[in-house]
Order: sequence, then C-alpha cells, then structure tokens
Amino acid sequence: MNTGLLHKFLFDGLPVRGALVRLGPDWREALQRRASVGAFAPPVRALMGEMAAAGMLMQSSIKFDGALILQLHGDGPVRLAVAEVRSDLSFRTTAKVTGEIADDAGLVQMVNVGGDARCAITLDPRDRAPGTQAYQGVVPLYDDLRQPLGALSSVLEHYMLQSEQLDTKLVLAANDEVAAGLLLQRMPLSGTGNLGGGRDEDQIGSNEDFNRIAMLGATLTREELLTLDEDSILRRLFWEEQLRRFEPQRTRFSCSCSRDRVNNMLIGLGREEIESIVAERELVEVGCDFCGQQFRFDAVDVGRMFTPPVDLAPSTRTRQ
Ligand SMILES: [Zn+2]
Repeated sequence: MNTGLLHKFLFDGLPVRGALVRLGPDWREALQRRASVGAFAPPVRALMGEMAAAGMLMQSSIKFDGALILQLHGDGPVRLAVAEVRSDLSFRTTAKVTGEIADDAGLVQMVNVGGDARCAITLDPRDRAPGTQAYQGVVPLYDDLRQPLGALSSVLEHYMLQSEQLDTKLVLAANDEVAAGLLLQRMPLSGTGNLGGGRDEDQIGSNEDFNRIAMLGATLTREELLTLDEDSILRRLFWEEQLRRFEPQRTRFSCSCSRDRVNNMLIGLGREEIESIVAERELVEVGCDFCGQQFRFDAVDVGRMFTPPVDLAPSTRTRQ
C-alpha cells in the first residue's frame, strides 16, 4: 500500500509534544492521480504538499473524529488551495488556479497579492447532524503588525496562538517526492499545577522549555526535512533531550468522491440544465478535482436521475 508515516513524541517531564510526518508514496499517488486531469504548477504542488503535511500534524494533535479541512482562500492566481485530513490519517488535496504561476512564486505571489487572503481551518465531525455547522476558525495571512506572512508555517503558528492559545513551532517542506513537516507544541498545563483558568495564558511565549525546543526545531532545514529519515532528524535536533516516542501511524491518500454524490450534485443543478448538456454533448462528464476520477452520465442515466419527475414545468417540456 502507498503509505507515509506520522511519528508522535513527548519530551519527558516537559510540557512539550511533537510530531513528525513524512508523506512519500501516498503523496506521489495524490499528485499522479490529479495529474490525470491536469497537473498544477510546481509551486502550487509544493504548497498543497505543505498543507497536507500541516493538516496531518494538526489532526494528530487534537482528539477529534472527523475531517480537518485546511483552506487558503486567495486573491492571487491561486483562488483556493485545500487539504483534507481525516482522523484515520487519510488525506486528499486540490487547488483552484486561475492565472499564471511563476516558477519561483511564494505564498504571497500565489494567494495573497492584494493582502486579502484568508486561511480557514474547519473541523467537521463525522457524526455531525445534517443542518448543523462545522467548527471553523479563520485568520488573515498577516501578523499582528499587519506584515504579510510569507510561509504557510507562519500562518498556522499564528493561527494556533490566536485561536488556541498554543505556542507552536512548525517546519514544512514539500516537493514532488515528499511532503513533510515537524510540529512542536507547548501543551496547556493541567491538573494541580494549573489552578486558575487564566494561569496558562501567562505561559504563552514564556515557557523556557518550549522556547529552547522550538529554537532547536527551527534549525531544521527544508532540505533536511525532505531527505533525512525520522531517526536522523530527531537525533540531529534533540540529542540532548529525553524523548518518549510512540508507535508510528500510517498515512494514505484517499478520496471520498462517489458516483452517488456527483449524481446528487447534478440533480441539484436541475433537470433543464443537465438535459441541455446531454443534448449538446451526449454525455455529462464530471471530474473530481481531488483525485481526477471521471464520472460520466448519458441520456439514460440522466433520465433515471430525474425519475420520478421532479420538474414538469412547461418550459422543460417544450425544450428541444
Ligand atoms: Zn475524488
């Protein structure tokens, strides 16, 4: 099976936890499938890889059964970039690109040209009742001094601090082979040491153990993250620390699209619309933006789709 690995660890006796993720064969599978309906430019692929790795790290640090959806709503050539990671560490990712992307384009040139981009993090529980809202947090792509943030890692660190009051250090990197990330996070104090609800806030930015470990983490280069195995990375960064490591978990690519869902989406567009497409092209073809799978519906399928008839308006009957 095409899988990657997620490694979680704790710093013994310190209020700091970490996770290291490395998507490999599963990431290449995601890129390959998407390429069947049109590959994205290299900088967009790298951004999607970083988002997938970041989504894994965030999903692994919360107790939650459902999908974590990371979205960048851009005002540049990349209008939207999405990574979805489910609790079983399966993921999918896509983007909507409307303009040219330079080979050396960074986050700002891709999504935040006018400074209006937003990063949204949605937690969609598996057992969410129909009609209820999923939890969503949204942050802009600039810091407290309104300076644009040039890297996805900074955007998410800022998000974790603003919305979750959690000091976080993230290192992310992706190319066409590997999508990888390191997360270091200060754990909120709990139990007898944390007497008042507000006490923990005093720790933000000032926990010495976290700051030391985050500084070590920051020395990890993108090149090292992409090329070294997890043992080498953890030894290189934290050889002086006491790590408690957990059993690694597998990550994999998986898309939740289905013919049924596309069918329902087409019904939502209305009979007239769908029949006019079939009249013109004989087929309605819908490709999944995540995995490239093509769903085709011919006149017979479309007839079945709208049986029993849901729309008998005169305008429909008089159409050619
Ligand atoms: Zn799909």
